[in-house]
Amino acid sequence: MSHRALTTIGFDADDTLWQNEQFFRLTEERFVALLGSHGEAAEISGKLLEAERRNLAFYGFGIKGFTLSMIETAIEVTKGDVPAGVIAEILAAGREMLAHPVETLPHAAETLQALSGEYRLVLITKGDLFDQERKLAQSGLGDIFDGVEIVSDKSAATYERVFARHGDGAQKAMMVGNSLKSDILPALAAGSWAVHVPHALTWALEHAEEPEGQGRYHKLPDLIGLHPLIRKIGQDC
Ligand SMILES: [Mg+2]
Repeated sequence: MSHRALTTIGFDADDTLWQNEQFFRLTEERFVALLGSHGEAAEISGKLLEAERRNLAFYGFGIKGFTLSMIETAIEVTKGDVPAGVIAEILAAGREMLAHPVETLPHAAETLQALSGEYRLVLITKGDLFDQERKLAQSGLGDIFDGVEIVSDKSAATYERVFARHGDGAQKAMMVGNSLKSDILPALAAGSWAVHVPHALTWALEHAEEPEGQGRYHKLPDLIGLHPLIRKIGQDC
C-alpha cells in the first residue's frame, strides 16, 4: 500500500484515447439514407436511439448491439417489409465498423508515456470484448497499461472493484474519460478523482449533468493538461 494520495489512473478508451463515436455517426447516416423512402431522417434516427436504449440490457454496449438495433429499426420503419438486400447492407456496415483502423486521439500516447512508471495505468472500457481487444492491439498502446478491464457497464461498484484489483482502492485512484455518465459520475461516487475530457461527439445515452461541489472533479479541454493536473494534485495532498 503506497503512502501517496494518488497511485492509480484509469483511462476510458473510446473517444478518450481513440476515435469511436464518429464511426457510429457515419454509419447511422448511411443507415438513415438506406431507409430514406420510409421516413424523415430525424424520425428514423429517433427510432434507432429508442431501439438502442431498449436493447442495452440484452446486448450491452458496442457495434454488434448497434447493428442488431439498426436491423430492428429497419423492420419497424418498413412495417416488416425490409428487403433482404437492405439487411445485408446493414450487416456490411456493422462489419466495416468492426474492421475500421484505429485512430488514436492527439496527445494520448505521449500522456500515457509520461505517466507510466510513476503511476499504475489501467484501461477501463466497455463494449464488445473482441472489438475492444482488437482496437487496443491496433492502437499500439496496450503495453503501457498495467491492467486492462473490458467491462459490461461502468458503475461505482465497477470502479471500486477495478481499482481494488489493480491499485490501492478507489480513494487513491483517478478516472479519466469523455463520458460524464460512465466515466465521471460513478468514479466520483466510488471516491476517486475524475477528470472529464469532453469529446466533440458524445452519444445521446452518455449525457449527464456536470457534477457540482465535488472537490475531486476536474475538467480539461484535452489530455495535454492531465500530467500537470496530476502533479498538482500530488502536491496538494
Ligand atoms: Mg468514452
